Amino acid sequence: MKVISVLLMATLSACAVMVPQKPEYRFDNGLWFDGEAFAPATVYVTYGVLKFSTQAIDADNSIDLGGGYVVPPYCEGHNHNFGGSADGVEETVQNYLKDGVFYAMMPGSFELYRTAIADKINTPTSVDVAFANNGLTGTGGHPRGLRESLMARFGLYPEFSKETLPDKGYFEADTLAEVHAKWALILAERPDFVKVMLFFSEDYEQRKDNPDHFGRRGLNPALLPELVRLAHDAKLRVAVHVETEADMATALRAGADIIAHLPSYDSTVRLSDDVIALAKETNAALVTTLSIAKRYERNAPDKYTEILNAQRENLIRLHAAGANLVVGSDNFRDTSRQEAMHLASLGALENKTILTMWTENCARAVFPERKIGRLEDGYEASFLVLEADPLADFENTRLISHRFKDGALLNVDD
Ligand SMILES: [Zn+2]
Repeated sequence: MKVISVLLMATLSACAVMVPQKPEYRFDNGLWFDGEAFAPATVYVTYGVLKFSTQAIDADNSIDLGGGYVVPPYCEGHNHNFGGSADGVEETVQNYLKDGVFYAMMPGSFELYRTAIADKINTPTSVDVAFANNGLTGTGGHPRGLRESLMARFGLYPEFSKETLPDKGYFEADTLAEVHAKWALILAERPDFVKVMLFFSEDYEQRKDNPDHFGRRGLNPALLPELVRLAHDAKLRVAVHVETEADMATALRAGADIIAHLPSYDSTVRLSDDVIALAKETNAALVTTLSIAKRYERNAPDKYTEILNAQRENLIRLHAAGANLVVGSDNFRDTSRQEAMHLASLGALENKTILTMWTENCARAVFPERKIGRLEDGYEASFLVLEADPLADFENTRLISHRFKDGALLNVDD
């Protein structure tokens, strides 16, 4: 009797596993990006994840994509337009969703504002955002000068004063003991990753006490390895602000996971073979932020042309070496769309490569533990449908006919 009931139980539980769940969605007539090209497929969504199948299965909803081009959602690898203010978050969310940008990384934000907007982000109908909160710098370093000037000139951060900004708007440390003391405060704010400033670290000794360099210096580079160790022990990744090639090399050697700018974002620097090899070897995410150079476009056109030439060369060589390039703008008014268009306009990389930097590489940098940024079985059901082929013309990345996020269609006012 006991044997029979055990057998019955085993059969029942096997049946329960085998009874197929009716998919929530079936997508017909779509061309799906596989990382290399677009291929026709019928794709199902069950429990919010993708399933490619050749079988025709009944689903709760079927959607005819009419030959549309399906790509992973776009992604912003560097911005500060979430978590820098308690206001305007709804509009920012709509701008991101309109542009098809579903994931964003904020290396530098306030815990106060992050908490204030927490219920308006990281939901199926909003943008998924990872925050570093505020970063660690040296005394009088970046971003202190920037924060104080934004506060004085534009009235930003009204909840704070110059006197209450320390440990809220930036963390300063000059010794190992201070790094440990600040680390406890950084950790208490429960960041998703950690931000550190290097700023002409090769001139650290010359800059550290020079009032001319207030706001234009960073952490003592000798302290960075210990900070990386503390972060990695806490299972947190480290993003480093860099200005120069020496900063980038120092950050990579110290074990940084994310380089928050490419050094040629603002200059004509040509990266050395050594630093490119280091970038490849460490597989650190290299966030572009190259459209920052547009500040020179009108007033210094010759300099701008030279910077673009350096950007082209560096991108070609980094990509050829197999470095992990990620689209990110560091532009408060952007959602990464203008940065992606800037990269395409340089003509240095294939459209396929820029699309991968904007989707897969960026998604992995923002949320490495999630199955996002690719269109494959078992990945989260989030994607965009384009009316025309983005590999033929990168402008077509703007022509979004459907936005699908976390297993459901998004309604966005175009
Ligand atoms: Zn930034």
